[in-house]
Amino acid sequence: MTTTRFAPSPTGYLHIGNLRTALFNYLIARKAGGTFILRIDDTDPERSRPEYVDAIREDLTWLGLTWDREETQSARLDRYEAAADKLRDASRLYEAFETPVELDLKRKKQLNMGKPPVYDRSALKLSEDERAALKTERSGHWRFLLDHERITWTDGILGDLSIDAASVSDPVLIRGDGQMLYTLASVVDDVEMGVTHVVRGSDHVTNTATQIQIIAALGGQAPDFAHHSLLTGPQGEGLSKRLGTLSLRDLRAEGVEPMAVVSLMARLGSSDPVELHGSMDEVIEGFDPGRFGAAPTKFDRDDLGPLTAKYLHGLPVDDVAMDLTEAGVPQDQATQFWDTIRENVETRRDIASWWALIRDGATPVIEDEDRDFVAEAMTLLPEAPWDATSWSTWTGAVKEATGRKGRGLFMPLRKALTGQSQGPDMGRLMPFLRRPKL
Ligand code: GLU
Repeated sequence: MTTTRFAPSPTGYLHIGNLRTALFNYLIARKAGGTFILRIDDTDPERSRPEYVDAIREDLTWLGLTWDREETQSARLDRYEAAADKLRDASRLYEAFETPVELDLKRKKQLNMGKPPVYDRSALKLSEDERAALKTERSGHWRFLLDHERITWTDGILGDLSIDAASVSDPVLIRGDGQMLYTLASVVDDVEMGVTHVVRGSDHVTNTATQIQIIAALGGQAPDFAHHSLLTGPQGEGLSKRLGTLSLRDLRAEGVEPMAVVSLMARLGSSDPVELHGSMDEVIEGFDPGRFGAAPTKFDRDDLGPLTAKYLHGLPVDDVAMDLTEAGVPQDQATQFWDTIRENVETRRDIASWWALIRDGATPVIEDEDRDFVAEAMTLLPEAPWDATSWSTWTGAVKEATGRKGRGLFMPLRKALTGQSQGPDMGRLMPFLRRPKL
């Protein structure tokens, strides 16, 4: 049974990069009819916040990413302790006492000597007395003893990978203050929760190598791993600093539609073209992780605008019923109004703007050179209420009286009636409008 998980740390709001990970795992589970777990990686009590947990749930729900099960790491600390004991019993976990400053110094020395900055395992060489002396001074942290062999796996996106364990420091699993670190907690959860596929960012490749050994040491079965490339900006620039400004809730506040985000992210960086999907089922159907490449994926926030607009243009009136009601559109005019404006909305917020223009009347815009023309046209404007023929009747009469035609005829009249140079078909809009106060 396919089981995947999305495992955010609740230390901030989800951004577009996190979404990529969430979406891939979600789609794999749904496509296989499996289980998708939301796992809250909150073993860091200082940085984790309950309000971010709520925000994560809210953002995923907004996107339509439903989960079958929720797990919280802070509620499973005893499981990680048990695993740590097991590793100690197998002599795969050892206590080390270097301070961060000492470790930093060691790394610098190694680098100066042209050596890779890998932890030198000094802790293993301590005598009993030295160890006892250090223990009275400070609490030690716990490192996993890597087997110095090549760690290999076939990555679902990157293909065959091989990492020399000797090129990696023995990972710290438990901090000096007793805090369980992600590397162990994640492995214990993946094994005990029967996770079969893990998709995460390529910044986790080295973690994966060490986790494969930890899983084996715990007697578990490693899941299939796939590492997607990291997002860059449109020019290939790193996004990490800007990701804070690309939070899902900011996109939502800007009026971006969830289906636009999901459609883009389910294809960006793959060999398939981006296409707008109408429903999550369609996205699930068309998803294939094997079609994604290793190269960094360029993300342009501006791509979400046209996709959002296109999505909205195709929506039936029932799907915008709430927005219409909130904007104050009377029920009996809802369908006609939506059909009139739908091609002209870029976000749902435009629904209220168009209705406000109709309800409150527009401030006419008249260019100086059009003053006489518009004044004359107004004398020919039939009395409101107008119907579907009013615009053509009126513009026909104005054309005849003034000799103007085409854009020179229509544009000043549109601007006089709506205050805008663009907008819905005037013939359809006229029945909603009122005579401008000139
Ligand atoms: N909490 C980890 C992170 O957000 C999870 C990584 C993983 O998927 O294993 O980076």
